[in-house]
Amino acid sequence: GESLKRHGRAQAHDIEHVHIVGAGVMGADIAIWAASKGFRVSLQDREPAILARAVKRAYGFFKSKLKDARAVQEAMDRFMPDLEGHGLKRADLVIEAIVEKVGPKQELFRALEQKVRPQALLASNTSSIPLEVIGESLQDPSRLVGLHFFNPVAKMQLVEIVRGARTSEAALARARAFTGAIERLPLDVKSSPGFLVNRILMPYLLEAVKLVEEGVGVTTVDQAATQFGMPMGPIELADTVGLDICLSVAEELSGPLQVEVPARLRELVAQGQLGRKSGRGFYAYD
Ligand code: NAD
Repeated sequence: GESLKRHGRAQAHDIEHVHIVGAGVMGADIAIWAASKGFRVSLQDREPAILARAVKRAYGFFKSKLKDARAVQEAMDRFMPDLEGHGLKRADLVIEAIVEKVGPKQELFRALEQKVRPQALLASNTSSIPLEVIGESLQDPSRLVGLHFFNPVAKMQLVEIVRGARTSEAALARARAFTGAIERLPLDVKSSPGFLVNRILMPYLLEAVKLVEEGVGVTTVDQAATQFGMPMGPIELADTVGLDICLSVAEELSGPLQVEVPARLRELVAQGQLGRKSGRGFYAYD
């Protein structure tokens, strides 16, 4: 771990302004983390209420983590909610963190390629969609990388740096350098089903949901995992990730990883029970 960290930090980087599209569970936290590490950040979402929530969350995070009121104010000044996407044209790096669906991601990249600077690095936080598929909508897919963060961003050190078939070495080097600069650990992975972490994690999560379907209590499953040493049980983790995201990832990976998508997951999503973010999933949250 340490050597990866030093490697990442040692690399010079040319990124000052990061633009993030999608201010949900992941986008907001990536933006907050990057701003707390000194980057200028614009955060775009089409829902004003979601942006407002992200600003509140940023303030709370900076207040709890930064040393004084001035540092908090400076971080808030670097953190720009951006409904219209004005930050795109100034960005050195754009990170996409919208819904886990091919169509919307391709559409977004097609549109934003027209607006960004020619030297801007483009990244997707996708968990499961092949980078080559997202890149089909780009004129220059060589500058597209995967920057796959984990939830919660402030706790999870790892970031998978995903190399698509067309990704350039220069793009990968910049992605690694940025990851090091925000004090996260870059791990190079190929654009393959589940990359590394979700290839292991998704079968585990889905198997846990199947146990629940078979009638085992959610707390029984989660307690078994935490007693075994996991920081959080798989069912609570699914709720934390978001059940809609879990479902999209499961659908995307079910073929290549030969996993079944549990009916229970589909039912909860169809009922709008998306986990923590909607207040109810396998568990209820207040
Ligand atoms: P989310 O549903 O919490 O947030 C998505 C946000 O994108 C929403 O606020 C929505 O309003 C916004 N949005 C959708 N389309 C948009 C558009 N065209 N322009 C602007 N905003 C738009 O989703 P999330 O959990 O943050 O996941 C985002 C991405 O990150 C997905 O690709 C997911 O696979 C990946 N990811 C998620 C997790 C996780 O634990 N949830 C972990 C790693 C990676």
